[in-house]
Amino acid sequence: MYIAAHPDDENTRLIAYLANDQLYRTSYLSLTRGDGGQNLIGDEQGIELGLIRTQELLSARRIDGGEQFFTRAYDFGYSKSPEETFTKWKKDSVLADVVWIIRKLQPDVIITRFPTTGEGGHGHHTASAIIANEAFNAAADPTKFKEQLRFVKPWRTKRILWNTFNFGGNNTTSSSQFNINVGGYNTLLGKSYGEIAAKSRSQHRSQGFGSAATIGNSYEYFINTGGNAPTINLFDGVEVSWKRIGKRGEVFQRAINDIEKQYNIQTPQNSIPALVALYKLLEKGGNDYWVVKKKQEVLQLIADCSGLYIDAYTSQPFAVQTGNFVVTTLVNDRLGGNTVLKSITLDGKEDVFDKVLRQNDNFSVDKKITVPLSKELTQPYWLKEKREEAMYQVADQQLIGTPDVQPAYIASFKIQIDGQVFTFEKPVRYRAIDPVKGEVYQPLSVVPAATIAASPNLLVFNKTDNRTQSLQTELHAYTNIDASITAGLVGIDYSGTQSGQVHLAMEQMQRYSFKVSDMHPPDEVYSVTAFANQKLNNDATSYHLSLKNIQYDHIPIIRYFYQDYVTVLNIHLKTVGKMIGYIPGAGDKVPSVLERMGYDVVVLDQATLSTANLSGYDAIITGVRAYNTNEWMVANYDKLMNYVKEGGNLIVQYNTNSNIGTVKSKIGPYDFTITRNRITDEHAKVTLLNPSHKLFNFPNKITNADFEHWTQERSIYHAGSWDNHFEPLLSMADPGEKADEGSLITTQYGKGYFTYTGLVFFRELPAGVPGAMRLMANLIALNKE
Ligand SMILES: [Zn+2]
Repeated sequence: MYIAAHPDDENTRLIAYLANDQLYRTSYLSLTRGDGGQNLIGDEQGIELGLIRTQELLSARRIDGGEQFFTRAYDFGYSKSPEETFTKWKKDSVLADVVWIIRKLQPDVIITRFPTTGEGGHGHHTASAIIANEAFNAAADPTKFKEQLRFVKPWRTKRILWNTFNFGGNNTTSSSQFNINVGGYNTLLGKSYGEIAAKSRSQHRSQGFGSAATIGNSYEYFINTGGNAPTINLFDGVEVSWKRIGKRGEVFQRAINDIEKQYNIQTPQNSIPALVALYKLLEKGGNDYWVVKKKQEVLQLIADCSGLYIDAYTSQPFAVQTGNFVVTTLVNDRLGGNTVLKSITLDGKEDVFDKVLRQNDNFSVDKKITVPLSKELTQPYWLKEKREEAMYQVADQQLIGTPDVQPAYIASFKIQIDGQVFTFEKPVRYRAIDPVKGEVYQPLSVVPAATIAASPNLLVFNKTDNRTQSLQTELHAYTNIDASITAGLVGIDYSGTQSGQVHLAMEQMQRYSFKVSDMHPPDEVYSVTAFANQKLNNDATSYHLSLKNIQYDHIPIIRYFYQDYVTVLNIHLKTVGKMIGYIPGAGDKVPSVLERMGYDVVVLDQATLSTANLSGYDAIITGVRAYNTNEWMVANYDKLMNYVKEGGNLIVQYNTNSNIGTVKSKIGPYDFTITRNRITDEHAKVTLLNPSHKLFNFPNKITNADFEHWTQERSIYHAGSWDNHFEPLLSMADPGEKADEGSLITTQYGKGYFTYTGLVFFRELPAGVPGAMRLMANLIALNKE
């Protein structure tokens, strides 16, 4: 079991080697789902990013042969020390989860990516090693987490090691450490482990970890941190043959040896009788962990050797509450192995067939399923309950650790092979034929008859005008709706409703428009939520959930439900200037917030930037990582500098200098570098270095109060070693660290202004932080009088 903190921390090459060369049951336990990172492929943040990275890890494991597990810990963003990490995670709960997963998986060896001593950098990294080493002992201790012992037994892992590393400019390996060569070639797969690893690692697309295949000898190094140290093999002292379960294991070993000897790659079906006999033998072998595990594997071998094809799919993407859908089940015994389909169970109902399957004959049955209102919506289990600070809440102990969403429906096939009845389970999936991609399978989701959403999600009122603003709610039908519906908005001090008869076909929408005016004291944030009540005959149904779809090509469709709301802000905000050009980078939600603040935003992309007349823009803002992701910034450098020189105002949000990518163009009129300095404490003290600077006085007065109520962090990827023309304007320090002045540097150039800032406007503006809005308004007004 490999243990670290985030999706991408794991050593895919080692996992590929252990799973495919050594044939160990290999798993990666990531304490978090990577919710707090930055997203390279879209604008999803927080839990949505965690959902994407969960699926990327599952994709990676399908390639490298490992299994995937998580704890309930939420990735709240960068932290500089394990102490800081443990102020947000409930350490005992995370430890309990790791102990639980160890007791369930019973690993012989645990490997941590990071040491407990801090060389891993990120506070989560060090925390993951601290917890892994504590869990190594606690899992074996029957007095620890006793409540788990209802389901699992204490487990003593043989040893725990730190897999030392050489990356990020930090080499912790040494030739004197225990090491193994993981660069071998697998003749059955026709690949080196470095090739498998590169493919696996390249699944982390949201992090931009596309990597090259490595071939040739390559070594992994280890320092033993618990249990006795290995000398020859990671599994020194661990019995990995059938001797492990004692004398009775010899019987199994003999049967397996015979099957291997008889096996013919051209006629695998000839091995079925012997495999069925082995299965029966294992059935009598008790509930030993390995007997149970190997029984499952033998079952899979029996299916594989008979070319058994089993599927359960529907042509509808949704199972709609109060609606129905058709499931097609299909069974084919392609190689012919004395097979009888006994029954298929779906939605709790068993249909008995007793049908002899002739070789390579399709047997297919359609079944209509009615979805009651009481059928649970398909929601990732870790999002069912409200998160408490940095811990997901999961009521069902058995779900803790499991990686994925529970399938909505499972079809259970009882199939008799060579006299023995086996049960095979298949999740019911949505199947579609895409004209471009071909046959596509996606998860099936249970949804309500309608969802309701509100937009925009942020309304900004400023005290200088008395506008009313409009808000839309949208009723989205997943089935035909013909009913009287009352749609509305409700929040503190506000409620509005509209009623009427609604006729909607599936996938159609009904829109309602509401007027909202400011009615709250300044700087007080409040929210309104949308709902719709439906009356049909005497049945009343209420819709109050929204459904989010996240779709990328490299992972299955992700869906989750949430209660949509609109944040209403009534703040002191003056803006000067109107037209903003926004050059998108990796993806962020800043442009829509700028519109809420009263600006007109024009997106400048590769095609429009090169031809646009920039003189009409009051300011041009580059989206996060625009200089990392857009090669074409190079070609527009002179144009942007001319714009500034002629009186423009260019505001560059953070870019990285990390492995994600180097900056591809010169950025400012004068030199500066981009460092990895960051201020991770959202409460960190901020000093205005030059309080009389225009940035802090026009058109809004900026004070320390504007740095209150920030979220997750303050700033990242600070400027460093800047040219004398630049003026740093903010100084900040994380607790116990020395202050850094690189979060915002600005300079005049010609008649205009250039600013580089690591301040996380991409988090603070969508979160509706008033001070961040005022500061952005002042940045935009720098070239104005
Ligand atoms: Zn990490």
